[in-house]
Amino acid sequence: MISVENFKLWYGDFQALKGITLEVPKNQVTAFIGPSGCGKSTLLRAMNRMCDFVGGVRHEGSIAIDGRDVFASDPNELRVAVGMVFQHPNPFPLSIRDNILYGPRRMRRISKAEGDEIVECSLRDAGLFDEVKDKLDQSGLGISGGQQQRLCIARALAVDPQVLLMDEPTSALDPISTGLVEELMLSLARERTVVVVTHNMQQATRVADRTAFFYLGELVEEGPTKRLFSDPREQRTQEYLTGRFG
Ligand code: ADP
Ligand code: MG
Repeated sequence: MISVENFKLWYGDFQALKGITLEVPKNQVTAFIGPSGCGKSTLLRAMNRMCDFVGGVRHEGSIAIDGRDVFASDPNELRVAVGMVFQHPNPFPLSIRDNILYGPRRMRRISKAEGDEIVECSLRDAGLFDEVKDKLDQSGLGISGGQQQRLCIARALAVDPQVLLMDEPTSALDPISTGLVEELMLSLARERTVVVVTHNMQQATRVADRTAFFYLGELVEEGPTKRLFSDPREQRTQEYLTGRFG
């Protein structure tokens, strides 16, 4: 689904990614793990060209999603197909309904009935509908942090992305909300490709079919999560998993 080939990225003179080659399979959850500063977010952001917004970025190599070269695609179309959820929930200062319809309305005119359907479907897919169905016209900022994060997931789902990129989506959440978002990742991956950056190794073992371990801008090792945790091939992976650094 996502094919990364010898991808390198520099911020000015600093090389943050040193030739990453990785295949992310369709309709599975892939976790990126590794100590902070090793390039996980950078690679995730390159996948939907959020790196375009940073000055002085240069890259080499390629990333293709479903066979299409990301850097030759229209960035707006790309970001419809490849949604992103961040560490801190970031609802717009709009109603819950308008948060969800923000993306669809930028693409085309949405009738009231169609809007209602998109709002309900997206909220159901994000496991939030029952909790907010009576306050769709209230501010998206007036709900709990865990609900806000699921609202951001619903907002990303409203444009029906094939890929959902999640950068530490639960690190600002309490354990109950974390559990809900983890269940969500599993259910979303039935029909979508999910890539999640996580600091939490237990989370990777709970949700990820495959795990990739990054260290200092390199992809050290990637494989089925069970195998990577039980029988790492590389010493650096083993050291990280046993808490010797990071
Ligand atoms: P991770 O997500 O694994 O913690 P990042 O991808 O955020 O790592 O960062 C990788 C490296 O790139 C770090 O050394 C970080 O300081 C650097 N970096 C990240 N973003 C920028 C930026 N906008 N400008 C310059 N350097 C950056
Ligand atoms: Mg990061």
